[in-house]
Amino acid sequence: MQPTYRANLLFRLADLLERHAAEFAEIESLDVGKPLTVTRMLDVPFTVEVIRYNAGWATKLTGETFSLALQASPYHAYTMRQPLGVVAGIVPWNFPLLQVAMKLSAALAAGCVIILKPSELTPLSALRLGELALEAGFPPGVIQVLTGLGADVGAALVRHAGVDKVSFTGSTAVGRDIVRVCAEDFKRVTVELGGKSPNIIFADAEMEQAIIGAANATFFNAGQVCYAGTRLYVEHSVYDTVVAGIAEVVARMTIGNPFDPETDLGPVVSAKQLDRIEGYVDGGRSAGAEIILGGSRIDQPGYYMQPTVIANTDPRMQVVQEEIFGPVVCVVPFKSVSEITALANDTRYGLAAGVWSRDLKKAHRMARALNAGTVWVNCYHTVDPNMPFGGWHESGWGREFGRVGVESFTELKSVALKL
Ligand code: NAD
Repeated sequence: MQPTYRANLLFRLADLLERHAAEFAEIESLDVGKPLTVTRMLDVPFTVEVIRYNAGWATKLTGETFSLALQASPYHAYTMRQPLGVVAGIVPWNFPLLQVAMKLSAALAAGCVIILKPSELTPLSALRLGELALEAGFPPGVIQVLTGLGADVGAALVRHAGVDKVSFTGSTAVGRDIVRVCAEDFKRVTVELGGKSPNIIFADAEMEQAIIGAANATFFNAGQVCYAGTRLYVEHSVYDTVVAGIAEVVARMTIGNPFDPETDLGPVVSAKQLDRIEGYVDGGRSAGAEIILGGSRIDQPGYYMQPTVIANTDPRMQVVQEEIFGPVVCVVPFKSVSEITALANDTRYGLAAGVWSRDLKKAHRMARALNAGTVWVNCYHTVDPNMPFGGWHESGWGREFGRVGVESFTELKSVALKL
């Protein structure tokens, strides 16, 4: 299909989603448990703009022309980008609409078709978006939504010989299995996986901003964010100030029904997830860590976890090393730049990192030293469709967003023509 036509269909889908924004915000809150204020202000409008952003790339993908290095006779040599074909997009439950739309719009901008497999916990927004895609005029079959359990429907998609690329977002454990299966027939694969991101506050930071930033970095979306800043490192001299500041931010939070406009923090997605989070916190307690805030589920209907701050940890504890995926942060004091670099990089993950400091030279040095796909300085959560996003190490392979995100749904071809 001609690039402009693909772009226009995507723009039409974005317009339709915008028109149904209120409905999608409700669906997403109902399915995930996110506060309606957040799905209205963030999930849905951000998704609309991501679709528009990727739609723009449909008409802008290019190859290069170049000279051959070793040939004496003249050649016309160039590269071109061609769509990979059929994409399987498999997504988790923490930002269901956004993740489906990210994969769909990038894959279609590149000229692919896509089969989307939403999480079994949160399939509703993907199904509704599928209906809107038909209304927008996408030919039936170009975008398919296939619901079901990961271990059978997801695994069958990954194994299927008709699938040319798997674009997966989810846990590191499942990502590892998917990479193994894709290796069988060398299927193209992108895996966006878990994290345990360091967030570092230096004593010279703009303190109020850093404290609010650190609380948001952990508690936003009830901590169910892959890049959440769940290892909070604080320079020794401001440690008490930061801990007290976070406690104040938490004290001001309203936790409760996602449909109540006052709610800042909703429940976590399921009983299983709540058990898992509590299990980690209990494990930390038994291993000798100190729970200085929260630490247990909230005794009310629904799956509510108290915002939790853990101190006096040791770098090898599970609560410091493993992704908890709940509103839980470990706070650790440090004394020097060299100490903090080693501590921050002491992880098998490498998704993101935060640095808070007024000393920009130090901040840039930290940005170079940290092993992570994204480093935020004096901010956190700055995710933008024009900024590539993805992980190092066990946080994954490949990037989404930006030109590279769209190009990841293409194959590169070189052509040499002897003149
Ligand atoms: P998950 O890995 O359990 O499931 C993700 C998706 O994969 C679901 O749709 C599931 O049905 C499917 N699935 C499960 N087993 C499968 C298999 N064997 N073959 C194919 N598909 C299978 O993850 P989750 O619990 O839904 O989500 C939480 C995880 O997602 C966290 O680890 C989080 O860090 C990660 N995540 C990463 C990013 C990122 O961009 N790096 C973003 C959001 C979430």
